Amino acid sequence: MQTLNANPNLALHPAPTAARVHASLPQLHAPRNPAREASPPRAPDHVRASRRMVDSHGRTIRDLRISITDRCNFRCVYCMEPDVLFSPRESLLTLWEIIRVARIAENLGVRKIRLTGGEPTLHPELTEIIAGIRGSTGVEIALITNASRLSRASLRTWKHAGLARVTISIDSLRADRFARLTRSASSPEEVLAGVEACLAEGLTPLKLNAVLIRGFNDDEAADLATLARRFAIEMRFIEYMPLDSAHAWDASKWVSAAESRRAIEARFPLVACGDDESSSTARTFAFADGAPGRIGFIAPVSSPFCGACSRLRLTADGKVRPCLFSTTEWDLLPLLRGSACDEDIADFLIDATWTKQPGHGIATPEFRQPPRPMSAIGG
Ligand code: SF4
Repeated sequence: MQTLNANPNLALHPAPTAARVHASLPQLHAPRNPAREASPPRAPDHVRASRRMVDSHGRTIRDLRISITDRCNFRCVYCMEPDVLFSPRESLLTLWEIIRVARIAENLGVRKIRLTGGEPTLHPELTEIIAGIRGSTGVEIALITNASRLSRASLRTWKHAGLARVTISIDSLRADRFARLTRSASSPEEVLAGVEACLAEGLTPLKLNAVLIRGFNDDEAADLATLARRFAIEMRFIEYMPLDSAHAWDASKWVSAAESRRAIEARFPLVACGDDESSSTARTFAFADGAPGRIGFIAPVSSPFCGACSRLRLTADGKVRPCLFSTTEWDLLPLLRGSACDEDIADFLIDATWTKQPGHGIATPEFRQPPRPMSAIGG
């Protein structure tokens, strides 16, 4: 399978204007084995005593993203290579381990849990996971999916089990591009049918995410924006990040949020909504003509939002990642499968959070792409 570099359809357009960003971005060479540490260094006593997950930069964790599987039925070019190796099943978190961590995390201040993957709808116990978290916590449960396997019946079952919200990824409305980008047997029509099923089952507010890659689908920004108007939902554009398993990311393929906005405003003028939560990753806009729906821009590269980050991640194989771009992760599995009590696990999560880096540092010379790809971290 062609990687981004070799794909003739991805002939690079001239470098985008934000020269400052591009010039400073290092070529990405990183070892492929994340620094997997057994236990994080102990957090200060006052932090442990607070029974809250706070980092050394004063940020508090409220959102836990749990990757429940690293398996996926897509092979998106900005995420996972066709020859990807999945973790052995026995090393993946079990249903009860996921529920236990969710319960402990709520006691430490988590209010939202997002279930991610790989593709979480591939997990055979997704309903039981949702119901188990619902039954033992009061957190809001969300799901991110490529929507290739959604039906009204499954959505109704998950909603009944406790699912509150869904976010769907869709990067192209053109079947040929969709196929080349996802390297899957799915289609834009199948994903849009998933959108309609979510709306019909009342899983709202529904959000859609698209990653624009220069020379590939960056000319679809305005077309994708029509989905917000058509379904009265939020269509978000995420800047392409260096988290792909091929390590093929480079700045010439990156499209800034400002550029996406200009492309959309050429057809649909926008006005800032001005009501975004401080820890929200997206900056949202309404249509100036009053049409329904919103447009969101998630700009981790050009406008990092790390200062108010409230997110912690748990990978499908039980690694705690304080930051999406962590190059060090803390192995929770031995505690979950050993004789550790809930207090021990809570201490571990507090200690791991305290090590959280100030930000991703993508535009700094020190930046190193994490060895673990997005597919094994979860969005
Ligand atoms: S890059 Fe890390 S610190 Fe920044 S917003 Fe994402 S998870 Fe938070």
